[in-house]
Amino acid sequence: MTNLNMFSLEGRTALITGANTGLGQGISVAYAKAGANVIGVARRSCQETAEKIAAFDGSFKEIIADLSDTSVIPQIVEEAEKAFGRVDILVNNAGIIKRCDAADVTEEDWDAVININEKMVFFLCQAFAKGWLADQKGGKIINIASMLSYQGGIRVPAYTSSKSAIMGLTRELANEWARHNINVNAIAPGYMETNNTQNLRSDEQRSEEILSRIPAGRWGTPEDIAGAAIFLASDAAAYVHGFTLAVDGGWLAR
Ligand code: NAP
Repeated sequence: MTNLNMFSLEGRTALITGANTGLGQGISVAYAKAGANVIGVARRSCQETAEKIAAFDGSFKEIIADLSDTSVIPQIVEEAEKAFGRVDILVNNAGIIKRCDAADVTEEDWDAVININEKMVFFLCQAFAKGWLADQKGGKIINIASMLSYQGGIRVPAYTSSKSAIMGLTRELANEWARHNINVNAIAPGYMETNNTQNLRSDEQRSEEILSRIPAGRWGTPEDIAGAAIFLASDAAAYVHGFTLAVDGGWLAR
């Protein structure tokens, strides 16, 4: 019989960026339920997430940091280690999207998206992997990619660039670190009900176009990400490296 303990995160510590809302909140709650100590990094309070986790006596600590600038990384690492000791799992979830015709995108908006969605992801991976490479005890990285890691999208050139980069970066880091027992993978969510898609969902025509193309016939929810996120963070995924797993209600199969 299969030992389902391989999916347990008991005794592990997971750090999740953008843990105050949306998918980051969903992953935080799921990890705490799976037994992990959860550290939520966000630029504003994670109170709602903390309350959801406290409801089942889970373990949660927040770190307030603005992820638009890499200078915050040493503080994040220090506070995380002070809270729970070694961080075993890193989930790079925080991200932004700016919708605008390609012809009108400003350099400021381009930099803002690339800084959070791509540059910060790499340097957080580097910061935690340095410790894992030094102690040789392994680690798990889960980057949050997108359907726009696979597709072009429209009116989101910086976002598509950043999310396509995430799929490539996930492969690159896996090639370097797999032999050190560090699993680097990504999850590509489909169209999920979060702040990220608020504008799309409130545009009746776009919303209908999207919905009619999702084989599952509904938008995804933060809870839909839980299974894939737990799997990739767990021992069950020990030999899974460099892969971007779509959780998309079948969108890419269309
Ligand atoms: P969301 O509700 O907008 O969450 C984004 C998270 O990133 C929030 O916690 C946000 O904090 C945080 N964040 C943004 N800028 C930050 C900064 N400078 N410093 C610290 N935190 C910052 O949307 P979501 O859907 O859950 O997005 C989570 C991830 O999934 C993103 O990487 C997104 O691109 C990706 N994704 C989402 C979908 C979807 O359909 N929803 C699909 C594919 C991929 P605030 O709440 O303070 O803004």
